[in-house]
Amino acid sequence: TTVGVLRETAGRERRVALTPDGVARLRKQEISALVETGAGARAWFEDIGYHGAGAVVGDRDRVYAESDVLLCLHPPDDVAACRPGQLLIGLLNPLGNVELMQQLATAGVTAISLDLLPRTLSRAQAMDALTSQANVAGYKAALLAAEAYSGFFPMLMTAAGTTRPAQVLVLGAGVAGLQAIATARRLGALVTGYDVREAARADIASTGATVLGGPGPAKDGDGGYARELTEDEQIAQQSALDEAIPRFDVIITTAQVPGGPAPRLVSENALSKMRPGSVVIDLASTVDGGNVEGSIPDTRTVTDAGVTIIGAAGLASTVPGAASTAYARNALALLTHLMPRGEVVLDLDDEIQAAVVVTHGGRVVNARVRDRKE
Ligand code: NAD
Repeated sequence: TTVGVLRETAGRERRVALTPDGVARLRKQEISALVETGAGARAWFEDIGYHGAGAVVGDRDRVYAESDVLLCLHPPDDVAACRPGQLLIGLLNPLGNVELMQQLATAGVTAISLDLLPRTLSRAQAMDALTSQANVAGYKAALLAAEAYSGFFPMLMTAAGTTRPAQVLVLGAGVAGLQAIATARRLGALVTGYDVREAARADIASTGATVLGGPGPAKDGDGGYARELTEDEQIAQQSALDEAIPRFDVIITTAQVPGGPAPRLVSENALSKMRPGSVVIDLASTVDGGNVEGSIPDTRTVTDAGVTIIGAAGLASTVPGAASTAYARNALALLTHLMPRGEVVLDLDDEIQAAVVVTHGGRVVNARVRDRKE
């Protein structure tokens, strides 16, 4: 079996799906690795490192032509180059790319998407790329906030006087939010966290941060995720947050609801009352929304009131070494699961495979993706 690694084609993407360390792990299982020239360069993994770990480094056409399994993060721009029978493994966002999944099915490609992994299953945890990448993003969000903020995060006692520590509020305390909380605390800020799930509130407290409670009872949904709020609940939440937000110097938002739009948590009204020099980082920022009113993906704007808003959707890619290393481990754990004896054995009765295999044998086999289409 040959595992191919494609260079990412998405514009700002710096990660790579497999590192030289990952190649060495594959080689130990007597699996060959074929890495596209320059695939890891933007994450500082040079071709020579892959070569030294036992991979063949070759051009893109060769990777498509000779690989049984292709590893990537995002669906490649030239995905039509995949051959029938080939496996394509990545964070393919199949629920948002239904048409592409249909094309892959028609082309006879077996598409496997790590973002459909059953995350609460303990034997799937080593494969959980959403968690590993959210962890990196949460860490970087706190650093980005510290860099953009006009003051210090810690209380500093100097001959020139004592500074007040920054007051940081993290909205949404899943994987990314909890790492943002932990990182901001390490930098010395006074951190408060907020989430609608009961378990997330306990997680915030366990980091030592302050929990911003209410309004009303917790809003837990299925599978450890939050549910979408009703209109009345949204109004109550908005007014509670509008009141709380102006007390903070830094806001980091990470809230998502599976299958729905990201909830709007920071309104223009709240932004207008924040102090000049304060910072808001929106990890949920997309072209048509996000947690923060007016946030624009990958863009830094300053409001008339002097508040810096940063739309920061793709932060994992900005720590490419750590993010690629973690992703490669996740992808390898899945590969090992799919290839127990060095050969791919597809078994759609297996709980993990049933969830992550999107297309196979010319069809979209994943019910969640099929339902999306209808
Ligand atoms: P996510 O990215 O879907 O959402 C981030 C956070 O936003 C969540 O904590 C969610 O509750 C919160 N949120 C949603 N709507 C909100 C609102 N209106 N106001 C405030 N907060 C809101 O979540 P995630 O980080 O991917 O993790 C979701 C859950 O899955 C967590 O409980 C996490 O621990 C769990 N998880 C479990 C495992 C496991 O069991 N091994 C692995 C990974 C994740």
